[in-house]
Amino acid sequence: MNDFDYKNDHLFCEEVQVETIAREAGTPFYLYSHRTLLRHFRVFDAAFAEVPHIVCFAVKANSNTSILRIFVREGGGMDIVSGGELYRALKAGAEPEKIVYSGVGKRDEEIDFALQTGILMFNVESAQELETINARAERLGVRAGIGLRVNPDVDPQTHPHISTGLRENKFGIDVEASLIAYRQAAGMKHLDIKGVSCHIGSQVTKISPFIDAIARLKELIGRLREGGIMIRYLDLGGGLGITYDRETPPHPSEYARAIIDAAKEMDCTFIFEPGRVIVGNAGALVSRVLYTKGNVGKRFIIIDAGMNDLIRPSLYGSYHKIQPVLRRAERGEITADVVGPICESGDFVAKGRKLPAFERGELLAVMSAGAYGFTMSSTYNSRPRIPEILVRDDRWHVIRKRETWGDLILGEEIPEFMRDK
Ligand SMILES: *Cc1c(COP(=O)(O)O)cnc(C)c1O
Repeated sequence: MNDFDYKNDHLFCEEVQVETIAREAGTPFYLYSHRTLLRHFRVFDAAFAEVPHIVCFAVKANSNTSILRIFVREGGGMDIVSGGELYRALKAGAEPEKIVYSGVGKRDEEIDFALQTGILMFNVESAQELETINARAERLGVRAGIGLRVNPDVDPQTHPHISTGLRENKFGIDVEASLIAYRQAAGMKHLDIKGVSCHIGSQVTKISPFIDAIARLKELIGRLREGGIMIRYLDLGGGLGITYDRETPPHPSEYARAIIDAAKEMDCTFIFEPGRVIVGNAGALVSRVLYTKGNVGKRFIIIDAGMNDLIRPSLYGSYHKIQPVLRRAERGEITADVVGPICESGDFVAKGRKLPAFERGELLAVMSAGAYGFTMSSTYNSRPRIPEILVRDDRWHVIRKRETWGDLILGEEIPEFMRDK
C-alpha cells in the first residue's frame, strides 16, 4: 500500500499534486511519501512487538538524512556498510547502540570510526577481519561488539545479483568455519561476542528461505552455547521483497509470525535490517517525456531521467511500473521502450512495455523507486544528480537539492603545467 493515487485523473502524492512539484522543482526528481514511509516502518516494527527486537534500517537502500531521521524518531536503528553511512546515520541522530555494521570490506579508518562511535556490533565476514577489529580496538583501548555473518547456504530464489546466502557468494563465513572463528574470537581480549547474523539476499518473496536460515542458525547458536559462547543477538538481515509488478511477497506480519515461531526459545534479541520493504514503494521517480519516435518496427519514449538516475532496470533487468501523471482515457495504448538520454544502449527504464501513448512534454512516474534509486545514482554523462522531495500531507520539502554543473567539477583541479601562463 502507498500514498500515490489519482484524484480526478491527476496523480497525487498524499495531498500534493505531482504536477505542482514538477512545475516548481523541474524534472526529473525523486518523490517520497512521508506517510507511506512511516506506515511501512511502523507495520514492520509492530509485527515483532511480542519479542525483544531492533529494526535497523538498511541505510544503503535510501541514505537521505531526512529519510533516516524518520526511522530514528520511531526508535529505529541503522544497518550500515561503510564509514560514510555511519556518518549519515549519526547526522540523522541515530543512537550508536542501535547501529550494526555489515559488509565484506571494512577499512581500518572505518573500523576506528565505528569503535569510537560505540556501535552495537560489527557483523564480521572473515577471520582476518576479526583479527583486524581486535587489533584496532586494542589500539583505541575499547572492546568491539561482534557477531559473525554466517552464510547459511540457502537459496533465496531471487535474482542472482542480489542473492547473498549461498556458498558461492562472497558474503559471510560458512557454518562450520564460523565455529572455529567464534572460538578464535573468544580468545581475543578486545572482542565482545554478542551475536550471529545472516542476510540471505534481497527481494525475497517467500518465507521458507528465511525459515531454513533460522534452522541453521539455531543449531549453530546451540553448539556455541554448549561451548560456553553466549549469543545474545540474532541478526536476521533484511531481504523481504515488495510488489514491483505481480510478485506476492508475504506481508511483514506473516513474515514475523513465521520467524517468531521458528525462533522460539532462542532467548535472543532479534535484529532486522529491512531496506527495500520499508522504502521501495514509498518513492517514485518523476520524469518528463522529451521526445517520442518510431524507428522501423520500434517505438521509443525518450525521457529526461537516465540510467544514471535509476540503474535498476539496466543492472538487474528490474521491472518498474510506469504511470502517467495526468490520466487521459481517450488516448490509445502503444508498445514502446522507455529510454533515457544516456549514450548507452543499456539506458532504459522499460522495454516493449504496453503504455498510454505518451506525448512530448508529458510527465510520467516510475513507481517503486524509493529503494536503491537515488543511492545508486551517479553523474555519468556529467548529469547533475537530481533532487529528492518528501511530501507530508499537503506540503512538500526538498530534502536534497538538484546538483548544479558547478557541483560536477567540485574537487577537480587542473595541474600547474596545464594552466595558462
Ligand atoms: C542490502 C542489505 C540489507 C537490506 O536488504 P533489503 O533487501 O533492502 O531489505 C540488509 N542487510 C545487509 C547486510 C545488506 O547487505
